[in-house]
Amino acid sequence: MRVLVFLDGSVEDPAVPQVRIDDLGLQRGDGVFETILVRDGHPRELRPHLDRLRRSAAMLDLPEQDVNRWRRTVDEVLTRWPHDREMVLKLVCTRGSDPDGEPLAFALGMDVDEKILRARETGIAVVTLDRGIDEGLAERAPWLLLGAKSLSYAVNMAAIREANRRGADDAIFLATNGTVLEGPTSTVVVARDRTLYTPPPTTGILPGTSQAALFRAAQRAGWHTKVEPLRTQDLRTADGLFLTSSIREITRVHTLDGEPLPDARESHAELVAAYEAEYRR
Ligand code: PLP
Repeated sequence: MRVLVFLDGSVEDPAVPQVRIDDLGLQRGDGVFETILVRDGHPRELRPHLDRLRRSAAMLDLPEQDVNRWRRTVDEVLTRWPHDREMVLKLVCTRGSDPDGEPLAFALGMDVDEKILRARETGIAVVTLDRGIDEGLAERAPWLLLGAKSLSYAVNMAAIREANRRGADDAIFLATNGTVLEGPTSTVVVARDRTLYTPPPTTGILPGTSQAALFRAAQRAGWHTKVEPLRTQDLRTADGLFLTSSIREITRVHTLDGEPLPDARESHAELVAAYEAEYRR
């Protein structure tokens, strides 16, 4: 099932072509996006997602994003989607068909991929891959758009295919000095002695909305949380290693670079329960 609503309020058929062939999002991946989980009719972390969309758009010199218009567009999708059916809600804004033209902006509701649903339960195997970026690069070279959620995800998708070739489900990117960065579509979270750790966004990674929500939930459940640089060794020696993202939520990593990790099913279950409790408050 799919529901498509453009930012101007028009509701269109997602099975029919809607994008011009010269759209710069299509031609160059020139645009920004967000992916939001909708459960029980409620879009999770909508405000942080819209804030990040605004920040990403500003980094790409796209027009200012009208958050209220986006909210109305999201509501239009929600009214057309069954309340009891989980949804992936994607917000996309491209530069449009020519540099002086109107951006193309739409919200698309879709079903959650079966593979992601399975991974939430079973956990995943992950390999570490070099991202080829070094310390300070995000600040030194803002045109690289590190930390923006741009549509240019070809590298991220290639990393997942490389992980698959190596017999794993997903990847964790490392900086050239071995510092842990993020997954191609997720944030890295490590558990040790009832403290959760995640790398700082200053390393050039995307600040994760689900990681922030998890840290909030974990603190309420009595955990400590720290945002600090992590080394590969920290991943191996952790009590638990997790990848978080809006749709996969908290996915347990059971194998790293072919080596099994300590069994973290218990802490995973506890963190998932705390995370879910955040949305029942
Ligand atoms: N890092 C990258 C590169 C991502 O693409 C994503 C989400 O897709 C994340 C981190 C996690 O972000 P969030 O928790 O907001 O979904």
